[in-house]
Amino acid sequence: MRIARDLADAVGKTPLIRLRRISEETGCEILGKAEFMNPGQSVKDRAALYIIRDAIARGDLKPGGTIVEGTAGNTGIGLALVGASMGFKTVIVIPETQSEEKKDMLRLAGAQLVQVPAAPYRNPNNFVHYSRRLAEELAQTEPNGAIWANQFDNVANRQAHVETTGPEIWEQTGGNVDGFVSAAGSGGTLAGVAEVLQPKGVKIALADPMGAGLYSYYTTGEIATEGGSIAEGIGQVRVTKNLEGFTPDHSYQITDNEALPYIFDLLHEEGLVMGGSTAINMAGAVRLAKEMGPGHTIVTILCDYGTRYQSKLFNPEFLREKELPVPDWMTEVPRSIP
Ligand code: PMP
Repeated sequence: MRIARDLADAVGKTPLIRLRRISEETGCEILGKAEFMNPGQSVKDRAALYIIRDAIARGDLKPGGTIVEGTAGNTGIGLALVGASMGFKTVIVIPETQSEEKKDMLRLAGAQLVQVPAAPYRNPNNFVHYSRRLAEELAQTEPNGAIWANQFDNVANRQAHVETTGPEIWEQTGGNVDGFVSAAGSGGTLAGVAEVLQPKGVKIALADPMGAGLYSYYTTGEIATEGGSIAEGIGQVRVTKNLEGFTPDHSYQITDNEALPYIFDLLHEEGLVMGGSTAINMAGAVRLAKEMGPGHTIVTILCDYGTRYQSKLFNPEFLREKELPVPDWMTEVPRSIP
């Protein structure tokens, strides 16, 4: 075991964990890249680190400077933690609808939070546009300047996965990998890993939640959306710069009803506490396994840690309200131990 020099050095190099139940059910080896084991407990630490390093290298981010970002939460947590370890401040614009646990974590990490009402991307007050304007203002007023991280269109995000996640998967499997499945938020993970693995013959699949537009884009050429999902951090409605030049081999549209039982089983039977985007990824992995047939090795992403969603995903009242499946174990009264 090596010693990490600092927090940045502890980002990445996550294990691949065999997902037992879905592997047995499909006859494939389905492996989850344990991104919840990053210091900020999500896949977005990698993007945060690369965005910060890139801004420093360009001379845009100066010592003591401020990083501004619009984020569903995880990118903000990554930026705040990596930023704190390097002496930067963070200001995070987040839609009010995101989980309270993520907001608490952001505050704990030292970020200043600006909550805005959830609004579609075409609305000028959408969190992404809001954060860009705020960054422009703070660049003028903050003593050491400010930058806008711009995770959606800043390809330093995808580069993190080109240089780390993709090569790690290739090395960990010894090149014995047939498929890779992921949902997309910024698209950095999906397109970055694809850039490394697709040329080596690995089939790449998009798992898109309801309410996102990429499934329709990759199957019909038009962006169209229908329904919604409780999964946070994914569900893109446009081709971001991080997705430019990327084409999946397969695209799946996945409902919450199909996806959620996978993480409920995973928690109860395999001890892995995951969030909603991981549920979409697991459902996508099962679809790809069925399409490829038994005997294949498929990798997906275990995106973030589930305690971040305790009040929603693991709350029977919330699930019932949304007419989503509630596993029996979630409502069982614990037996009393004398
Ligand atoms: N899952 C979660 C929980 C996330 O927060 C994100 C990023 N917002 C993703 C998946 C998707 O990652 P990417 O931005 O690389 O597409």
